[in-house]
Amino acid sequence: LSTKMSIKIQNLSKVYGTQRAVDDISFEVAKGEIVGFLGPNGAGKSTTMKILTGYLPATDGSAEVNGFDVKTLPMQVKSSIGYLPEHNPLYLDMYVREFLEFAGSLYGLKGKTLQIKVAETIEMVGLGLEKHKKIGQLSKGYRQRVGLAQALIHNPDVLILDEPTTGLDPNQLVEIRELIKSVGRNKTVIFSTHIMQEVEAICDRVVIINRGKIVANGTLSELKQGGKGIEDVFREL
Ligand code: ATP
Repeated sequence: LSTKMSIKIQNLSKVYGTQRAVDDISFEVAKGEIVGFLGPNGAGKSTTMKILTGYLPATDGSAEVNGFDVKTLPMQVKSSIGYLPEHNPLYLDMYVREFLEFAGSLYGLKGKTLQIKVAETIEMVGLGLEKHKKIGQLSKGYRQRVGLAQALIHNPDVLILDEPTTGLDPNQLVEIRELIKSVGRNKTVIFSTHIMQEVEAICDRVVIINRGKIVANGTLSELKQGGKGIEDVFREL
């Protein structure tokens, strides 16, 4: 069964000083699912994602991506994951193409393979008309496409997207949601958000976290059948 799981988190905790930012959480994401990781500010979403990517060590518990333990097999985890951090540090002075070539080179892509991969990824995220522009010239929505392209460049199985729609205007928001749905086909996706409608728009399932604890985990219809609309669960946080 575990081979069907792209992400497996067991009794994971992260303590900063005296604060338990992530407090004994467990959940799994099956291959091919798009899961929304929902919770208010400070709930522990980014911390969980940073542990999954290997960026932060856990205090306790374990996390696996594609069957690889993040602590013991960090390189395998890194190549399995495309990660878009919450405050994605883009190089505003670089050209879109140049930046993606650089991103691809970090995964060992080079020469013709790198050129092909960059060109494919630019098309995939709809940056065809912007590829010769500097990142600093782009709108926030297009910068987010660059961020997604960077996460996709090495064709990872799993996408981990930390609040990919925060700060976007309504049109950009719809476009980026649609893009997540389309690039997420045939991949496993977990993305964090505090916007409930976002989960309803693109997710198979939602995991809700509050104060470091998982407070709900299910499909939207399961959560609704449980006598509570997802709105109610969220309102109680
Ligand atoms: P947001 O939506 O604001 O990004 P989040 O759900 O991603 O919130 P985290 O960023 O994981 O939440 O933070 C969880 C808790 O851990 C918060 O209370 C935060 O203040 C705390 N925290 C996060 N990073 C650190 C750090 N490096 N040192 C100390 N405390 C931290």
